[in-house]
Amino acid sequence: MWIAKTKAELRARLDAASRPIILVPTMGALHEGHASLISLAKEKAGTEGTVLVSIFVNPIQFDRAGDLAAYPRPLSADLGVCETHGADGVFIPDDGEMYFSDHSVTVKESSLSTHLCGAARPGHFDGVCTVVLKLFLLTGCNSAVFGEKDFQQLAAIRRMVRDLDLQTEIIPHPTIRESDGLAMSSRNIRLTTAQRADAPRIHQALLAAAGESDAESMLRVAGKIIGGSEFAKIDYLSLVDAETLAPTENLSKPAILACAVFYGEVRLFDYVSIGR
Ligand code: AMP
Repeated sequence: MWIAKTKAELRARLDAASRPIILVPTMGALHEGHASLISLAKEKAGTEGTVLVSIFVNPIQFDRAGDLAAYPRPLSADLGVCETHGADGVFIPDDGEMYFSDHSVTVKESSLSTHLCGAARPGHFDGVCTVVLKLFLLTGCNSAVFGEKDFQQLAAIRRMVRDLDLQTEIIPHPTIRESDGLAMSSRNIRLTTAQRADAPRIHQALLAAAGESDAESMLRVAGKIIGGSEFAKIDYLSLVDAETLAPTENLSKPAILACAVFYGEVRLFDYVSIGR
């Protein structure tokens, strides 16, 4: 498995690599969720193709400096996960390699991003789209794998691919969960033992709410279960249309019940699909 730290090294490696090139963009602190994405990329690449994992904690998608500074960066463990799951190469640029100090051009997604996490984190999805577009252009990848865990991110990236006529195929991967239902996240390790024990209530609340037959009851049931925690502070809890991500009460179309919850400084996110 090769490692490229600069764009020039990456280009040299990829010029010699066989296609298809399948990219798995990550911010590192890799867990089983990321590992499954790499395995899926390996399956899609077949024996001939090239699986490339990028590890880059993208500064322009963070709205809180503390969150960026606290983001875990266990590089050697990450490289082990990449190698074990069949990556052919890893791209680990630093901030200066990815962004000129006076960079001034970004991608702007102006519809899907106004809801849910985007409403609470202005500019976040523009930062995500910008780095993903740069990675697509730098790697010339044929396909890229993204987790459904971050469904708003996936929706914004699909919209970017559609609107900018990008040729990269987007491959979704279902959410991987801990055995108690908590969605795996690089942020989970920042929870205290008590917070970690409490956090599965997020998934439980969403599942319980999904059994209700109207929007108001869904929000009430989920809000009550999460609100019953001594640690959890709801950032938002919302039922949205699965296509536009705008708030809805209409359950005759596919919808998504989503929430973001703070445990101290750690913001956890989860959702459940309704009606599909
Ligand atoms: P991140 O490193 O958090 O930016 O995530 C990199 C990729 O892994 C994104 O496409 C995420 O959606 C995906 N991912 C993160 N956690 C999970 C999970 N628990 N299950 C599936 N995919 C995940």
